[in-house]
Amino acid sequence: MPRMPELPEVETIVRKYAPLLEGRRIVGFASRWAKNCSPSAAAVRRAIVGRTIQRLSRRAKYIVMQLDDGGSLLVHLRMSGRLEWAQRSNAKPKHVRAVWDLAGGGRLLFCDARKFGRISFTRSLEAATAGLGIEPLNGEFTARVLARELERRARQLKPLLLDQSIVAGLGNIYVDEALFRAGLHPTTRSNELERPQIARLHRAIRQVLREGIRRNGTTIDWIYPSGTMQNYLRVYGRTGEPCRRCGTPIVALRVAQRGTHICPVCQKVGKSREPRRPAKSMMP
Ligand SMILES: [Zn+2]
Repeated sequence: MPRMPELPEVETIVRKYAPLLEGRRIVGFASRWAKNCSPSAAAVRRAIVGRTIQRLSRRAKYIVMQLDDGGSLLVHLRMSGRLEWAQRSNAKPKHVRAVWDLAGGGRLLFCDARKFGRISFTRSLEAATAGLGIEPLNGEFTARVLARELERRARQLKPLLLDQSIVAGLGNIYVDEALFRAGLHPTTRSNELERPQIARLHRAIRQVLREGIRRNGTTIDWIYPSGTMQNYLRVYGRTGEPCRRCGTPIVALRVAQRGTHICPVCQKVGKSREPRRPAKSMMP
């Protein structure tokens, strides 16, 4: 089952392609799957051909191509999208959905077997990304900011952390890993955490994302080929294997319709809020 690249994978792709694309002029663009382009393939072509790519960056799980006239192209890989770099003479890879021709002969390909990927052009990057939540590796993401977001909601931790409008860039793998490292159960309610637990979760989110970037992301299938983080995961995809902390077999469960992996000993629901003991008078 292909899975969507998350923040560390998209960041790795951006770091790989930035030196190839920045400062290059786009001399041609063609889409072979019109539905993946917004507002339309023709509109994207008109907007970007002749422009120079000033900067390649990332926002949440989007690859952002900033152009020299202020316009931006957002690329979302979704389930099976990937970028490939090809010189004109190269053999064509499979499932090519869009092609950028660059001055000097380089060619960027967007390949996507399942056609869920999206390419959209915007004149205002700010407006186009206004609905996205905070970037977890930016300085503005502090434990205090996370506490504010958690405490004003009463949602389970896992779906809350997957919600791109709150914290941007996390997906199934890194949420499971962060919750394990913080010792928190994915169904714990966000407003039931105590401040030290929030501080631990904040630290765990940043640690796991930084480690993912350092290891060039997680490779679980052929879509995303270059990472090694899969060798260092502590719970995700390790059902039945011993917890690296306590030896208990890792358990798979479903939380908010998502496959979820936990250690049932290291991650307990409402760990810090032990049920109150009944008053002595009520005891038999
Ligand atoms: Zn454990």
